[in-house]
Amino acid sequence: MIISGPSQLYQSIKLLGSGSFGSVYLVKELNTKQEYACKIISKLHISKYDALQLIQNEIRIHASCNHQNIVKLYSYWEDCTNIYILLEYCSKGHLVDPKTPFNDDDVFQVFHQILSGVNYLHQNNIIHRDLKFENILIHEDGTLKLCDFGWAIKVEQLPVPNVMCGTTDYMPPEVVSKSPLDFKLDTWSLGVLLYVLLYGQFPFLGNNQEQLIRNILFEQLIIPNRNDTNEDLINLIQALLIKNSQFRPSIEQIYLCKWMKFNMKLHNIFNHYENEQLKLRVKQKNITLKVVHNTQYYTPNKKMVCSHYIESKNDLDHNPTQFGKTHNSQNQKKF
Ligand code: ATP
Ligand code: MG
Repeated sequence: MIISGPSQLYQSIKLLGSGSFGSVYLVKELNTKQEYACKIISKLHISKYDALQLIQNEIRIHASCNHQNIVKLYSYWEDCTNIYILLEYCSKGHLVDPKTPFNDDDVFQVFHQILSGVNYLHQNNIIHRDLKFENILIHEDGTLKLCDFGWAIKVEQLPVPNVMCGTTDYMPPEVVSKSPLDFKLDTWSLGVLLYVLLYGQFPFLGNNQEQLIRNILFEQLIIPNRNDTNEDLINLIQALLIKNSQFRPSIEQIYLCKWMKFNMKLHNIFNHYENEQLKLRVKQKNITLKVVHNTQYYTPNKKMVCSHYIESKNDLDHNPTQFGKTHNSQNQKKF
């Protein structure tokens, strides 16, 4: 099948997936041979479900995004039968719930990329509202990218009125109880993703939709017994899956939790929020920093040697569990 775009022709190669509204095809631009994913939404389907506004909203929000962990939307157009959305092609499909639970390190490798995409969205006042494995795609180079902005909303004013949005397994209590919503909706879904990565099962189950909703609302979170799991990671999961959204951490607080701070240093990834916190502390206390090298640092599986910041005014007061436990040399440059 040949698809005619505004200025190019595309050859459709194969079906990549279909969702509730459209089918996504791998297409090749005839001139350049460049591959794209093209989401095709039938206008018949749109009018049947009165979904024009939803689709326009999806396109408007998605097109406004520009981040390495979000699938790029290159262009869109329509003809008399369909709406077409031309997307960056992610050749390795979408994430799937792991058959065997991941270890802490693999969990981090996946989680920090999703978090980076969600952080970008929240900073731009966008709530995704449908974070789930099927909406996290894997690019050819291994980068994870969020897709499917069908439920996304640009926040003008908080809280956002309730609609039953997303997929029940990932829905927080405030969605299923039809309460007002805010950014913490996505935070809960991040908790569900983390839980499934680590334990290979969903945190709340049910034999039917009703029971699942009841369990999301009232059942206590059970943390399975896995003695190789870092306590800080368990703390994070528990915080993300707090039923009252007010007490759930924001994205900034996730970046400032011990497990994230430690792993970002370990993997040499710049932590903007930690850096800002450190700068603020320095400003407030008028502290100067010096770097101490070759500190031995233990994780459950590895013994690390890294350098870390200490406050030079009063080194003895330095509390390594509180802040800036370690810092590698690359981060020093960025501070
Ligand atoms: P949903 O039922 O989740 O609302 P949808 O109709 O909004 O689905 P998408 O989630 O955008 O559609 O896409 C459906 C599936 O198509 C994805 O889960 C994925 O497998 C595939 N897909 C979507 N976009 C791409 C892409 N850019 N590259 C590769 N595959 C893609
Ligand atoms: Mg989808």
